[in-house]
Amino acid sequence: RQGWLSRLKAGLARTGSSIAQVFTGTQIDDTLYEELESALLMADAGVKATEHLLADLKRRVKEAKATDPAQVKGLLVDAVADLLAPLEAALTIGRHPTTVMMVVGVNGAGKTTSIGKLTRYLAEHDAKVLLAAADTFRAAAREQLSVWAGRNQVEIVSQEGGDPAAVSFDAVNAGRARGCDVVIADTAGRLPTQLHLMEELKKIKRVITKADAGAPHEVLLVVDGNTGQNALAQVKAFDDALGLTGLVVTKLDGTAKGGVLAAIALWARERAAGPVPVYFIGVGEKLEDLQTFSAREFAQALLD
Ligand code: GDP
Repeated sequence: RQGWLSRLKAGLARTGSSIAQVFTGTQIDDTLYEELESALLMADAGVKATEHLLADLKRRVKEAKATDPAQVKGLLVDAVADLLAPLEAALTIGRHPTTVMMVVGVNGAGKTTSIGKLTRYLAEHDAKVLLAAADTFRAAAREQLSVWAGRNQVEIVSQEGGDPAAVSFDAVNAGRARGCDVVIADTAGRLPTQLHLMEELKKIKRVITKADAGAPHEVLLVVDGNTGQNALAQVKAFDDALGLTGLVVTKLDGTAKGGVLAAIALWARERAAGPVPVYFIGVGEKLEDLQTFSAREFAQALLD
């Protein structure tokens, strides 16, 4: 655990150094708050989350009667940790004979890699996993997923040039018939231009429900944490179309835009259906580089 935390710290150093810099002075004054505002905006926390954090921090400073900027830094850790807390939740399996997960996200976000890591995580928890290559448009995506299946020694349902919804349907049925604990469907992140991604994903979701009335039990979005506010736009768009149940935020091992988690948290707080948790964060390219999300650890790593 130590290893990944130091990678997260090193990664977030690019986000956090300009924020931490704000607290090196001797006074708590308007300049400090103005500098903090710029630093949070630069870290891609977005205008709303930045305003929220500043107001919350000022309240905490007043309450604590703080006089030392170093103390304010500690209070900001508390404010960030509290803002991010609703994003904490563990992905649970075992509530259904076969938990069906549909994984979505734009190309390059780290979807296939995250599925590979997630498969390993589930296998370590003694779950029998079946993968479904429902991105039938890209041969490379299918091949990459079967490499991960091989590495994790799990079965895969894949069909060259097949219909993504049909592959998903078959995989759910196969998973149930074979007594699998989890079926994970990898989906396309981009389609040939004449087709609409969201329509295709909605169709996959509908067809999965046909195969198993309660499924998909999870609709997970993989977003690249390095894309900042763009990641938030993706979260909103995929949620509108599909109703997300969880997020995986990748590439936090080397980003200057880690503040986007604050923006996602603020959005999640105001979401009518309740917050969408961040089940995992990606902190590297290797199998073990998928970690559960802790608001306080993240806040501390950010401002270390
Ligand atoms: P997909 O198109 O969404 O399936 O994305 P891929 O899984 O192919 O990942 C795209 C690239 O991002 C690959 O080079 C991955 O190794 C890399 N990647 C994925 N997750 C992480 C992460 O958490 N950290 C880093 N540094 N790289 C990652």
